[in-house]
Amino acid sequence: MTSSTTPTSASTPIIQVALDTPLDRVFDYLAPGADDSDVGRRALVPFGHQKVVGVVLGMVAHSELPRESLKTVQEVDRETPPLPADLMELARFAAGYYRHPLGAVLAAILPPALRRMGGPGRDTGPVAYVLTALGQDQLGQLPRRATAQRALGDRLASGPLARQELDTRDKGLVRDWLKKGWLTQQPMEDGIPKSGDEPPGLTQEQVTVLAELEGCVGFGTWLLHGVTGSGKTEIYLRRVADMLEMGRQALILVPEIHLTPQLTERIARRFPGRRLVGLHSGLAEGARREAWLTALEGRADIVLGTRLAVFAPMPRLGLIVVDEEHDPAFKQMEGMRYSARDVAVWRGKQRNVPVILGSATPALESWRNAQEGRYRLVSLTHRARESAALPTVRLVDSRTDRPRQGLTQALVQAVALRLERGEQSLVFINRRGYAPTLLCNGCGHVFPCPRCSAHLVLHRRGGGPQAPGYRLLCHHCGLSVPPPEACPSCGGLDLRPAGQGTQRVEEALAAQFPQARLLRIDRDTAARKGAFAAMREQVATREVDILVGTQIVAKGHDFPHLTLVGIIGADQALVSPDFRAGERLFAQLMQVAGRSGRAEHPGEVLIQTAYPRHPLYQAVVAHDYPGYARQALRERRGADFPPYVSQVLLRAEGRDEQAVLGFLMAAREQGEALDPGVRIFDPVPALMSRVANSHRLQLLVQSRSRPRLQSFLDRWVPVLGELPSRGLRWGLDVDPLDV
Ligand code: ADP
Ligand code: ZN
Repeated sequence: MTSSTTPTSASTPIIQVALDTPLDRVFDYLAPGADDSDVGRRALVPFGHQKVVGVVLGMVAHSELPRESLKTVQEVDRETPPLPADLMELARFAAGYYRHPLGAVLAAILPPALRRMGGPGRDTGPVAYVLTALGQDQLGQLPRRATAQRALGDRLASGPLARQELDTRDKGLVRDWLKKGWLTQQPMEDGIPKSGDEPPGLTQEQVTVLAELEGCVGFGTWLLHGVTGSGKTEIYLRRVADMLEMGRQALILVPEIHLTPQLTERIARRFPGRRLVGLHSGLAEGARREAWLTALEGRADIVLGTRLAVFAPMPRLGLIVVDEEHDPAFKQMEGMRYSARDVAVWRGKQRNVPVILGSATPALESWRNAQEGRYRLVSLTHRARESAALPTVRLVDSRTDRPRQGLTQALVQAVALRLERGEQSLVFINRRGYAPTLLCNGCGHVFPCPRCSAHLVLHRRGGGPQAPGYRLLCHHCGLSVPPPEACPSCGGLDLRPAGQGTQRVEEALAAQFPQARLLRIDRDTAARKGAFAAMREQVATREVDILVGTQIVAKGHDFPHLTLVGIIGADQALVSPDFRAGERLFAQLMQVAGRSGRAEHPGEVLIQTAYPRHPLYQAVVAHDYPGYARQALRERRGADFPPYVSQVLLRAEGRDEQAVLGFLMAAREQGEALDPGVRIFDPVPALMSRVANSHRLQLLVQSRSRPRLQSFLDRWVPVLGELPSRGLRWGLDVDPLDV
């Protein structure tokens, strides 16, 4: 480490540092003893009245500022390896393409623990705790009421306990017991399994796909389209195996890691003796830093992570896989609004390694890229296990079979049949809470959030169905109020829940099937850490007959005893103003349908709809993604929507709606002068036009040519920075998903 006490002179080197500020510029500092090898290192520098951590971008012979006015860096971290040059280049690309300050991009790439200097030293490696003889003796004498101590003692009595298995309270106890000599510490070979699973023999389709992929070690983007359960993951694992053989690292990106623990286990078991690290925002700071550094040092063989892992430093990178590539979770929705899938493809090209994008329902952007030859399409059309056929999808016409409490007669009968046979059912409804709104039966008044442009959602709180307590909640700003006794508009007392949410469907099913064991899985019940895994366990061990859940149940789980999926409320998406709502609905339906009939029992899917002839539903019935994509792309082309045009959204928000509008009008006027070939629409309210009393408006800019749009931005962005914007927040969203 260098220190600030080193005197500076006329020959003291000057470094350029990128800092996490909204200003898109770099900062010069005097850095005694610095040289080219410091590029990519972290530096602690004075900035205003603070000291902040930045990344060294390079050395400069002269600063634009007079030497006397330059400040001196406080410290350069030479213990951590510097960010490698390719990662710096990737950051520069992302900063340029997504129009985000480089310093902010670099800060986002670093794990939170490395955004500060100092902090606790690195773990020397994973350790396990073992009871000493003294400890065994003492624990036996603990009083009965010391339940936490006794519980931990019992766990230790059955063998060494890894540090990762401890919660905060356990850690406190462990510290205490180490001091008392009840425990010792021993290094643990990180849970790298020594033996693993044998791969299954390949299906004919898998052989064909692999024949195409194999031998490709340089850059190429492959779109692997395969129905759920067709063995896509098996393809990834085979390619990962090839790369590990060659001494390379593999990067696997998934939409949400905590929802797919099975994948982590499956990879770990397949590659015994290899180091697999997870990288996602749910990790504790220390663990995330460790995982990141393990990747950076080239010690991780496989990095499995969420979108942020696309920026993981990987010196031996050999393959990138993006699983469920269509999932909107790959798009970051705040700060730098990047698409991890698109960055992955860029990175594959940069590092000259293959990229595999896998999905049962590819994003229409990816599908078109495949059709135009930019991506190479490979397909798996059958389920891998011979016994597991695709489920039968039936549309239930809710105009003739009128739902009662959300449930059609057909669905009730189908559930009853499963109960009789001892099989499981899933009722899927993508709305949590009791009912989407509370409605006054006298005047039709519904209850808006006073701070947002959204209705308050009725939620039931504990108390059981006999004595339920209700709340009205805003899903956008968190407002929570008790439902009023009387309608504030007409004074009427007949206030009724309108529509269905997961809680109400659960209640209706409980009334219909009093003997059945029900389990609701939505964001409210799965919020607690570990709750989701526990629920999955309950389903797997058949402690549940009927599941009620939102899309979080739909993601990548194997429920072998599940033979029925009922879908409620899907029509909602058909009338959405969002042009991507149909695409999302199709993907969701295919995914949730894929949950049924995975094992020996054939599955059945019932979709309740008032539009059974809608082509989207017809395509779901036929399991026909290509057919759906053809029709959807035709519509997109006709309406001049992506992927036929490239879009950028200028988003602005503030308390004063007129000021926000004024800013966007000025932005538009300036933009129109720059390039008449780029289309700029009128400023409009965002889909959620008011959140927590802040008004959100947006300006859509589009062009058929992506490079042209980018060169327009080159000139427009500096202009935007000059516009008066007091009291406003604004930002650009390149390739926005929610327009
Ligand atoms: P996907 O990723 O397309 O959903 P998976 O790779 O998870 O498909 O495969 C679905 C199921 O089929 C898994 O249980 C997997 O173990 C099994 N499977 C995959 N390939 C084969 C194969 N060639 N032979 C037998 N079973 C297979
Ligand atoms: Zn609100």
